[in-house]
Amino acid sequence: MKAKVHPRYQTCTVHCACGNTFETRSVLAKINVDICSACHPFFTGKQKFVDTAGRVERFSKKFGGTYSFQKSGGVKK
Ligand SMILES: [Zn+2]
Repeated sequence: MKAKVHPRYQTCTVHCACGNTFETRSVLAKINVDICSACHPFFTGKQKFVDTAGRVERFSKKFGGTYSFQKSGGVKK
């Protein structure tokens, strides 16, 4: 390999928002992620909202929980 043109490929610690930590290799020393294989619904098999900024709650507050059932005659345009 040519000297001084390649970034340092090192051991990297990945921190997930769920508290899980694992090691991999990267040019970065540390990576913070929102979701990982330990907490993603695809791997856990449980349904959950991936909601980091309270968006689901805000939507429910704005439109109410029964919003979609209030309409009787088709979709409003
Ligand atoms: Zn996670």
